[in-house]
Amino acid sequence: MKGVHQIKNRCRICSVPSEREFCDFHAEAIKRVKEHFEVWKQRKGICWRDYLREIMKNEKAGVWVKEAAEYLIRESQ
Ligand SMILES: [Zn+2]
Repeated sequence: MKGVHQIKNRCRICSVPSEREFCDFHAEAIKRVKEHFEVWKQRKGICWRDYLREIMKNEKAGVWVKEAAEYLIRESQ
């Protein structure tokens, strides 16, 4: 891509040019991860980082969600 216009931001996870902090896919994944945590916290008393690790291990979790979880683990260190 040649610089027709300057892109200010890139997704912090996949580096795709984005107008926001994250691309649409990762923004959605992060939102879902955070929403779902509220349920798990109440049901299982799990802490944020354990919850994120569970997502990473979950075979059923989608790739976007796993990448979001990986990012959030790094961010929480
Ligand atoms: Zn992304």
